Amino acid sequence: MSDFESKTLKAVTDNSFLFLKEALGRLLERDCEYQEIDNELLTLTCAELQIALELAVRATIIRKIGIAGVLKEDQKRLSEEEIYKHYKNKTLKLEDFDKLKNFLKKKNLTSLVKKEFHEIDRFQLYRNKIVHFACAFSDDDLFNLRDDILYYIVHVVLVLLSEDTKDESPTDYLQRKLSYDFYQRLKKYTPYIRAMERYASKMTDPVWTCIGCFNRTYSPEYDYCYVCGYETLIGYRRVDCASCGTKNSVIYDHLDIHNEGNHHRMNGMCLDCEEKTEVFECPECGEAHDTIMDWKHIYCREGHCINKE
Ligand SMILES: [Zn+2]
Ligand SMILES: [Zn+2]
Ligand SMILES: [Zn+2]
Repeated sequence: MSDFESKTLKAVTDNSFLFLKEALGRLLERDCEYQEIDNELLTLTCAELQIALELAVRATIIRKIGIAGVLKEDQKRLSEEEIYKHYKNKTLKLEDFDKLKNFLKKKNLTSLVKKEFHEIDRFQLYRNKIVHFACAFSDDDLFNLRDDILYYIVHVVLVLLSEDTKDESPTDYLQRKLSYDFYQRLKKYTPYIRAMERYASKMTDPVWTCIGCFNRTYSPEYDYCYVCGYETLIGYRRVDCASCGTKNSVIYDHLDIHNEGNHHRMNGMCLDCEEKTEVFECPECGEAHDTIMDWKHIYCREGHCINKE
């Protein structure tokens, strides 16, 4: 990618974030989550989100195939120098959004699948109704629209924007782009969390409770929380849960378990059923289990290692 292309890519991406942040910021400030969303807020949010999406689509195409990808047919085959000249003279002709969107879909340039492209079309319809025709919605509609909007932000716009985050996790990237404080506020906005929970269960199976943020957004498969970016701390281990039967889901602090006075026991919590329990870890052989499991006394106990008999 040439210098000109990476500068353009950065500018387009930053602009997309600008509109996204404006839309999200207004939601965070003005939305009373437990009532229907108000019409004015909806209108402004939809308009800005559409701009954020259009920019995110352009950014994706520039990143994947270069700047020529977003230009009109008669400028597509120009040399980079000529493209730059047009840019300087402000005579670059950008391809329409619909064409770019279909191109993205046809060429499989993103991880978005058919369903999300369908969401893009649906959202565009909404936006047209709301912004151009000032359609009034029923209270029920307005209630659902909030979730639709957040679904759209999380499952479509943010996916496009954070697809190529290189050395950063998507949550670190978002935090950097939106600013730390802004991201902390976003993490407290329930509609965002609900959308993230749906996103996590689409991306990975199973999804458990995160002990960093206590949302249902932690993936044991990737050891990653989709909301707070939590990864298991060094020294934490997991054993099977006696309450729900899930394998390897009770987390406990292995580093402190043998401290004096602990009797090789430590509090544990199941990340699946959220039951709090106690874990025993044998100081002789290292075997560990949820103590509820041991009603038959078939596991190691303090002073009695079943593997050293
Ligand atoms: Zn978390
Ligand atoms: Zn459990
Ligand atoms: Zn043992």
